[in-house]
Amino acid sequence: MSQTKILLDESEIPTQWYNVIADMPNPPTPPLGPDGKPVGPEALSAIFPDALIEQEVSGQRWIDIPDKVREIYQLWRPSPLYRAHRLEAALGTPARIYYKYEGVSPAGSHKPNTAVAQGYYNQQAGIKRLTTETGAGQWGSSLALVGQMFDIEVRVYMVKVSYEQKPFRRSMMQTWGAEVLASPTDQTEAGRKILAGDPDSPGSLGIAISEAVEEAASRDDTNYSLGSVLNHVLLHQTVIGLEAKKQFEKVGDYPDMVFAPCGGGSNFGGAAFPFFADKASGKEVRLVAVEPASCPSLTRGHYAYDFGDAVGLTPMMKMYTLGHDFVPPGIHAGGLRYHGDSALVSQLYNEGLIEAQAVHQLETFDAGVLFARNEGIIPAPESNHAICAVINEARQCTKTGEAKTLFFNLSGHGHFDMASYDKYFSGELHDYEYPAEAIDAALHNLPEVAEG
Ligand SMILES: *Cc1c(COP(=O)(O)O)cnc(C)c1O
Repeated sequence: MSQTKILLDESEIPTQWYNVIADMPNPPTPPLGPDGKPVGPEALSAIFPDALIEQEVSGQRWIDIPDKVREIYQLWRPSPLYRAHRLEAALGTPARIYYKYEGVSPAGSHKPNTAVAQGYYNQQAGIKRLTTETGAGQWGSSLALVGQMFDIEVRVYMVKVSYEQKPFRRSMMQTWGAEVLASPTDQTEAGRKILAGDPDSPGSLGIAISEAVEEAASRDDTNYSLGSVLNHVLLHQTVIGLEAKKQFEKVGDYPDMVFAPCGGGSNFGGAAFPFFADKASGKEVRLVAVEPASCPSLTRGHYAYDFGDAVGLTPMMKMYTLGHDFVPPGIHAGGLRYHGDSALVSQLYNEGLIEAQAVHQLETFDAGVLFARNEGIIPAPESNHAICAVINEARQCTKTGEAKTLFFNLSGHGHFDMASYDKYFSGELHDYEYPAEAIDAALHNLPEVAEG
């Protein structure tokens, strides 16, 4: 009988994070300030602790993980790598399918991997309060979980449609002691501005980020924390891929293709970048980011400087973007509704070193249900995007007879997403056409930047 769960000992939790910048062929594009010049670290210090700002710009290949952070990781790490024997059999594919399961964390996704590190460095810097945004509630819950471990108060601006769709994510954050507000609120300048334009605004990640950043910038005891997109967040998530590589070694296999759902890019970066290190030294491995066809930043966006938030409070980052004021359709994968993408993921994509695919909502739920009925775990709707792409590839292998090794990051479980599964079963879930007009309109508002 061949192995199903490939497990590591707690002593094998990585001791260092991997920084992909060291292996990129070109230096990363710098974030720009309102004057179009690269922002210095001082511009970020109103909202981030110095240790994270250093990590944001570091070119060092390996960065030590503090003992305290590894100790908290021990609550759920190392996470298991599974061989999907039953899914393979159901598909009749010669492909070998593996998945790393990040749903074993207390919050149910990969996001606590960076929340722990961010909580730690903020506490070290004497910070007492953190503000943040959350879409589907996965990030807000992760920061709430960690806040109580480090004696930090957490205030979460939750995108209004998710606030209404997912009351239990809210209760979860409250259980861990966080305060949760439906964004846009009337408590910030940014929120009031959006509400004046559209009193019924469903909110967006970009709007919630504006609110959280504005509050953090205005208070000395308060910092801001972001759950994806930034270099330091992707760095922290590399524990996923680093563990996976050890697990593949144990069974003497290695992926031909690595897949992960892609919202802001942190779980993709976390799973894929450690394999990029091998690719950079000549190994053949394809890295595939999978995004929703209704919010297709990599596959249909522009590669340009844009703001990270809706209102334009953040520095501009060069990234694949749909426009900072693009409000995506209310699809049921709230974690993938960000208008842009990580600058590192964007640059690697632009240079043809990684790939991207867009998939439609209904096929992702078809895939998630097939997965659940064979592997047992009910995936988060975000994770279903990667599963869908893997199943398509495995079916291709059935046709060609190729025995490829396919690996994906099962970024979280779907236990708080059953209302979305209900809609799928009752036929109320739809595909959205590529929202060309909304994207064209938003792209007209890209900031003007003279590059050179
Ligand atoms: C947030 C989230 C994602 C998207 O993650 P990014 O790192 O922003 O790309 C994917 N899956 C789950 C379960 C999530 O919670």
